[in-house]
Amino acid sequence: MFRRSALEMRVLVLAPVGRDAALLTATLAALQIETAISNNAAALLRMLEEGAGSAIIVEEALTSDFIQRLRAWLNAQPSWSDTPFIVLTSGGRPTPKSHCRAQELRELGNFTLIERPVRPETVESSVQAALRARMRQYEIRSRQEALIQANADLEQFAHSASHDLKEPIRSISIYSDLLERSYGTSLDEGGRKFLSFIQSATKRMEALLEDLLSYAHAASISEDAVEPVHVMRPVEAALESLAGAIRESNAQISVGEMPAVRMHESHISQIFQNLIGNAIKYRKESEPLLIQVSASRADGWWTFSVADNGIGVPPAYQEAIFGIFKRLHTSSKYSGTGMGLAICQRIIERYGGRIWVESEPDHGSNFFFTIRS
Ligand code: ADP
Repeated sequence: MFRRSALEMRVLVLAPVGRDAALLTATLAALQIETAISNNAAALLRMLEEGAGSAIIVEEALTSDFIQRLRAWLNAQPSWSDTPFIVLTSGGRPTPKSHCRAQELRELGNFTLIERPVRPETVESSVQAALRARMRQYEIRSRQEALIQANADLEQFAHSASHDLKEPIRSISIYSDLLERSYGTSLDEGGRKFLSFIQSATKRMEALLEDLLSYAHAASISEDAVEPVHVMRPVEAALESLAGAIRESNAQISVGEMPAVRMHESHISQIFQNLIGNAIKYRKESEPLLIQVSASRADGWWTFSVADNGIGVPPAYQEAIFGIFKRLHTSSKYSGTGMGLAICQRIIERYGGRIWVESEPDHGSNFFFTIRS
């Protein structure tokens, strides 16, 4: 299962002085470990790029320029990788300078310091420990890759399943409508009741599939930069598609000044449609519904807010409601699929932001989400 090339298990050695290189080569050869010797920093960095199990560097080679380049290389490594480095230090009594250097290397990455003159057994055990740790990292990489692939397969399955199921459900919907129209009068009261159960279950299934498809689509949002869009436009589009519900609920909606953000217009619109739609759906019958949409900027992010004076969300469920199919009410009380917030969360997270709610039961909810400014 674990893919490893010979390059990935070799030990690189940066030792411009011949004596160290000779000792290390002999020790590693005795262990049958593949070794590649370089005598300058650029060559070592090139070899690191091609793959390495560990690298041994003599202290004199660690110039500040090399450390800077090494830092840049380490920062560019994937999250699973933590290449173990072994540094052969000058030995002798610790000085403030050597203390500083050790501190600097600790902050830089996975560095083990060995004092010279080194004994072959010390090199042996350090290299073996380093390679063992590196092997574990390769295993984590393989698992990570397998997980990413399994996730992609699952996404694809969810997408195809919801797509393929649409067709037969559409047929059930069409034929039950036809049945009602052509034979409704021939059915007795029981028959008509059954037919209406079929029709409402079909509608619910259609809504579920539609939401599942939106959820699956959100997985494929690419991280490539998109042109900035003025948020007012998608907010207005959301309000337009909710026009019927707004009229019916007599909602007073105020929208503050909106910025431009780098997002697809349809995604912003979908988020606002779900959040404002929920604010309307979960209103209190006892007082006029007020909804406030606003945006504020801090530390390179826009925080958008959709606040209502509705029924609120109990603290215990304020995280759970973002899960798929998670609902706090029965369909007979409030219609819905339990997918709206999960879709919002997925879209927002694809753009690097986050979404959360602050709420007190019976005192309204304030949904926030952030998008990079
Ligand atoms: P749905 O509305 O279809 O149930 P959502 O994912 O949009 O699905 O919401 C999940 C749950 O979160 C809802 O069932 C509801 O209990 C709660 N909720 C969402 N928005 C609000 C809101 N504005 N006020 C109170 N509760 C809310």
